[in-house]
Amino acid sequence: MKNIYFTLGPSQIYPTVKKHLENAFDHDILSISHRGDKFKEIYKTTSQNLKKLLDIPTENHIFFLSSSLESMEKIIEGCVFNQSFHFINGAFSQKFHDMAVNLNKKAGKIQTDYDSGFDFKSVRIPEKIDLICFTHNETSIGVALDMNDIYKIKSLNQDKLIAIDLVSSVPCVKVDFSKIDIGFFSVQKGFGLPAGLGVLIVNQKAIKKAQSINKNCNSVKSYHSFQSLLENEQKFQTPETPNVLLIYLLGKVCEDMIKHGIKNIWRETEEKAEIIYDYIDKNTHYKPFVKDKNLRSTTTIIIDVNGKSKKIIYKMEKYGYIIGSGYGKYKDGHIRIANFPAHKIQDIRKMLELLRRCK
Ligand SMILES: *Cc1c(COP(=O)(O)O)cnc(C)c1O
Repeated sequence: MKNIYFTLGPSQIYPTVKKHLENAFDHDILSISHRGDKFKEIYKTTSQNLKKLLDIPTENHIFFLSSSLESMEKIIEGCVFNQSFHFINGAFSQKFHDMAVNLNKKAGKIQTDYDSGFDFKSVRIPEKIDLICFTHNETSIGVALDMNDIYKIKSLNQDKLIAIDLVSSVPCVKVDFSKIDIGFFSVQKGFGLPAGLGVLIVNQKAIKKAQSINKNCNSVKSYHSFQSLLENEQKFQTPETPNVLLIYLLGKVCEDMIKHGIKNIWRETEEKAEIIYDYIDKNTHYKPFVKDKNLRSTTTIIIDVNGKSKKIIYKMEKYGYIIGSGYGKYKDGHIRIANFPAHKIQDIRKMLELLRRCK
């Protein structure tokens, strides 16, 4: 029997991927040149499908990188002249901040307790900031920000760029790409694909900013600089030999998701999350880590298991259900359950039923 993966990424593979993998093999996708017409067609199709699925403005650019950590690095490198500013409420937003520090940028921050929200009304962004960075869904602790709070910060800071880590958010949650400058994700979370591809979505304003920074002779000009990515994108190519197979599979999965309907994906994500939270709220052995219902992530559900995560994960694995441990210092204290489009409602019910036995 095959296992079912409720881990946060890599996670359960989207059901159509097997068929697309076989097709890729049969149609030589694994061998074609990344400079040839066939690849250009794949780049173009995947880019168009993504724009259609996520309602991304057509003039935005889509770049393919190796991971989201790489996207963070390229964003800081490309768009920060003076200083970035970070909303930190968990391990991934912390990584984004540290990335800026490691690249010798000044990085301002506002930090909150891991399981509480930001007081957006009192936030003042300093004048000199080039880029404001958010992590929409903190996969480390299961807290999601309200997109409207982010859009509001953007509207109050029109002269600054906004970058959002959407790694464990898309395509499960609605994002208005016309209201943000930069968004990025990796395919091993919500898209149900194997790891090894990062997608970076940037608007014209971010490109302009990167170009003006690029003119400065002291700026870094790496092979994945915005300029190099842009010049290659115009030819439907990447600077290096990319992960052709994953770019192809992403395009195919987007097509399937367009057919299924993005609104259905959003609705199903909410329904499944409600089933899981309802189970935890009513269970006497398990506690939700995030108490405030307004802050609870719908894709990353964290259960406080009172230090017993190892035992529970071990028992669940015997049944073929793979559950994530807590992140970092919460390794033993939490279990984490992913709720992505690849997770079927009947598998979630079965998993919760087994969880009852594994307490
Ligand atoms: C998984 C994750 C990342 C890192 O993605 P990589 O593909 O490993 O670079 C970054 N941010 C969030 C919110 C994540 O969940």
